[in-house]
Amino acid sequence: MNRTGISYLDFTCNAGGCGCSMGCVECWVKAKVAARVGQNIGCDDCKNFRVHFHPERLEKLIRTKKPFVVGMDFTSDIFDPLRMFDEIDQRYAAMALCPQHTFIVLTKQAKRMREYIASEHRGDNSGARVMACLIALDICCEDIWKDPGSILGEDLIITDGNGFRDWPLPNVFHGLTVRTQKEMDPDFLKIPGNKWLSLEPLWGEVFIGPGCGVVRSNYDRWVPSHYPPLHRLSGVVVGHDNRRGVPGTETLDHIRSVVEQCRAAGVKVYVKQMWINGKLRTKSEDFPEDLRHRQLPWKLTTKLSDEKCREIAGEVMLIKGNLRQSHHRRCRHEIKACDKILEILGAKDGD
Ligand code: SF4
Repeated sequence: MNRTGISYLDFTCNAGGCGCSMGCVECWVKAKVAARVGQNIGCDDCKNFRVHFHPERLEKLIRTKKPFVVGMDFTSDIFDPLRMFDEIDQRYAAMALCPQHTFIVLTKQAKRMREYIASEHRGDNSGARVMACLIALDICCEDIWKDPGSILGEDLIITDGNGFRDWPLPNVFHGLTVRTQKEMDPDFLKIPGNKWLSLEPLWGEVFIGPGCGVVRSNYDRWVPSHYPPLHRLSGVVVGHDNRRGVPGTETLDHIRSVVEQCRAAGVKVYVKQMWINGKLRTKSEDFPEDLRHRQLPWKLTTKLSDEKCREIAGEVMLIKGNLRQSHHRRCRHEIKACDKILEILGAKDGD
């Protein structure tokens, strides 16, 4: 598990290392992360961005009792066509063994994700799947069955070796990356359980739920004429590409359209970032007012919400104001400390 700069996660667990067969030209992991990580941990597969598996990384999830929001395989693709379902099973077994955590899965392989979730041998209660997963997990977590209670606690999602109590797992949010309308899988919304969309990087206008009859009215607003599929979504994350000048970054209209669609359908939306006047903005207070939406369907543990930041900043500003009225020399240091805190919180106090 690694802390992450991705603002809608607490940690990532990259059991698939750095490696993917999809060959996206814009892949930031391949361009900026793989070589460095591969060098640091001495893994040639990571270095060369080959599809591979680090099963031992799953054990830390199980041993971490404090609940976190964990992105699963954010430096690869969990449903990469080169990954066998048996290997994916091991991650799902680990996720089932960690009801304390919330797992965020994200893929570009919508069809494969649907196949996996719908597969007879995975969603049923036959026990075969669970046993296969547990046997696989034993490879990396040998003592788990010697004293399961001490490691796993009481509230297991897996019940008595006979199957998953719920499938899809209730602590997993299945996500699809969609950059253009073409990538919007018409059947994604039919996936049972928690699901979300990552419209980041957004390269053009996207109607969520193609075939859902989303039409533009005379008043230039999005009017989803068929809500039911849309409201099955748990949430949407949307944002521009990090790279300057990439198509889609020249306008806020596409982001605005997504926000409007989500709000019309009552779907939570998290606006992550956007280019404004040649600068990539990531703090919501720098966004136009109508785009300041930071609602997630899951609850972060390690990050302060914008609202909490504003609340703390307000209190710090009050303290700073009081310190200013005092002429004691020591107060200068304390005022500086206040400035530092305000800077970290991304707040300005009108100086
Ligand atoms: S799917 Fe993701 S990890 Fe794989 S090549 Fe494309 S951007 Fe990189």
